[in-house]
Amino acid sequence: MLLSGLALPALNLEESSGSEKQKLFKEDTSKLPFREFDVVVAGGGTAGVVAAISAARQGAKTALLEAKGYTGGTVVEGGTALHSFYNLWKAFPGVEKRQVVKGIAQEIIDRLLLIGGTTGHGDVTGKIDYDCVCTAIDTELYKLVVLEMLDEAGASVFTNTLVAGAVKKGKNIDGIITQSRMGREFFKGRCFIDSTAYGDLSAYAGAEYVELNDHPVCNSMGLGNVNIEKLYTYLVKNNALGDLAYGIRDGKDGQIIRMGSESGYTIRGKLPQEFVDGVVKLGSGLITTTVHDNYLMFIKVNYKLPVSPTNRDEVAKAELIIRQNQFKTLELFRKYLPGCENAFIARTSPSLNIRRGRTITCDYDITLDDVIGGRHFEDDIMAYGFHDSAPRYQIKNGGTYGIPFNALLVKGIDNLLAAGMLITSDFQAHMSTRNTVCCMGQGQAAGTAAALCALKKCSTRDLPYNNLRDALLKENVYLES
Ligand SMILES: Cc1cc2nc3c(=O)[nH]c(=O)nc-3n(C[C@H](O)[C@H](O)[C@H](O)COP(=O)(O)OP(=O)(O)OC[C@H]3O[C@@H](n4cnc5c(N)ncnc54)[C@H](O)[C@@H]3O)c2cc1C
Repeated sequence: MLLSGLALPALNLEESSGSEKQKLFKEDTSKLPFREFDVVVAGGGTAGVVAAISAARQGAKTALLEAKGYTGGTVVEGGTALHSFYNLWKAFPGVEKRQVVKGIAQEIIDRLLLIGGTTGHGDVTGKIDYDCVCTAIDTELYKLVVLEMLDEAGASVFTNTLVAGAVKKGKNIDGIITQSRMGREFFKGRCFIDSTAYGDLSAYAGAEYVELNDHPVCNSMGLGNVNIEKLYTYLVKNNALGDLAYGIRDGKDGQIIRMGSESGYTIRGKLPQEFVDGVVKLGSGLITTTVHDNYLMFIKVNYKLPVSPTNRDEVAKAELIIRQNQFKTLELFRKYLPGCENAFIARTSPSLNIRRGRTITCDYDITLDDVIGGRHFEDDIMAYGFHDSAPRYQIKNGGTYGIPFNALLVKGIDNLLAAGMLITSDFQAHMSTRNTVCCMGQGQAAGTAAALCALKKCSTRDLPYNNLRDALLKENVYLES
C-alpha cells in the first residue's frame, strides 16, 4: 500500500478506525528560533556523513542533523563489514578484480588505515557465496574519523538533534523542525537530503512511500576476550568454516579478520546440534569480522517484527527480546565454541538496526534487471558491483551497474534528495543498493548535487547532469565511461 505523509502510519489511524478516535493537536511552528543553511542533511549515518562532507566541500553552508550523539549510523552499529568497494569477479574467469567505488568512501578507509582503524580490503575466501572483498572497520575509530572529516570540510554537525517535522512551501521544503535539549528549532535550507534510513524527512514532507517490512531487525554485539586462532582451529577441525578473510589486525597484516561458520545462516550440521538449533532459534549465528585481537566485532541477533520498524511500541518490545537473545547467544558461544569460553559482551548497538524502514518513492526505482543486467544510465552518479545474494545474483560479466541520479529524486518534491537504504523497492535489487559502500556513494552524489542546486538556486530536477558529473569526477568518484 502506497502511503504519503506521516500522520497515518505514526498514529495508526487505519488500524484503530472503529475504536477510539485519535485526537490531533495543531502545533504553532511560526515562532521557532531558526538557522539558515544552503544544504540540510537529515540523518548522519552511512550515507548522510558522506553527503554532508561532499556538500560542504562544494562550498555550501551545510548542516548535518543527527538524532544520536555520534555520526556513523548502521555502518558502526550493524553489519559485518563494508561491502564492497570492488566488483564480484571470482565467478567470471578472465575478469579482473577492480575497485569501483572510490571518492570519500575510500578516503575514510585511508584515514582509518593511518590509525589502525580498519583491516583494509581483504579478499574473502571459502564459499563462493562470500565472493567479495571485506573491509572491516573499528566502529569507535570510524565515529572519530568521520566527525573529524566533517569538521575539516566545514560542515556544521548537530548531534542529539531529532528531525521532528518539515514545513513545505509549494513543492519545496522550506525547513526542518528539530527537537533537542535546546528545545524546538527550525532549520531553513535551499536543498535537503533525507538520509535517515527510516525516511523520516520525506514522510514529514508528505512524500509517497511504502513500508515493506521484508527484513528482520537486528542488534549486533561485539564479544571481547575471544581467542580467535583457537576458534578458527576448532571450526577447521569440524569442517565448519564458512568463509574467511585475512587482513590487518592490531597493526599486523596477514591475520584472520573475518570468519564464519555455516550455522545460523546455512546449516551443514558440523557443529553440535544443540548449538546450531540454539543459535537458529535465537536469530543469531557466527559470521563476524575483527580489527583487533581477542574480539569478535559483529555477532548479529535478528528478530522479525510483526509490523514495520517505524512502529515504536513493537520496537520497544523487541529491544527487550533481542537483548535477552543476545545474552542467550553469549551463553551458547561460551559453552560450545572453544576460544569463546570467557567471552563477554563488550558492545551492543544502542538501538535496533533496521535493514529497511520506509522506502521512498523516487523518480526512478532501480530494478533487479538493472542490477544483474549491469545497466548504466545517462545520469549515473556512481558504479557498483556487489550483491548480497551472490552467487544467486551476480552483476553481468562481473561488471558494474549504475545508480542514476533520478533514483535519488524524491517524487513530487523539488528540493529533496534521498540517499541510503531508503531507495529501491524491489527486495533483491535492494539487496545490492542497501549495502554500506553503495549508500556512501549515493551520499557523495546527493551531497554534491544538493550543494550545486543550492548554489545555483535551481531545483534538483533542473540541475544539468554534466555539472554534477564533472564535480563528482573532480572528487575522485569512479564512473564507468
Ligand atoms: C544487521 C545489519 C547488518 C548489515 N550488514 C552489512 C554488511 O555486512 N555489509 C554492508 O555493506 N552492509 C550491511 N548492512 C546494510 C548497511 O549497513 C545499511 O543498509 C546502511 O548502513 C544504511 O545506511 P543509511 O545511511 O541508509 O542509514 P544509517 O547508516 O542507519 O543512517 C541513518 C542515520 O539517520 C539517523 N536518523 C534516523 N532518523 C532520524 C531523525 N528523525 N532525525 C535525525 N537523525 C535520524 C540515525 O540515527 C542514523 O545515524 C547491514 C545492515 C544491518 C541492519
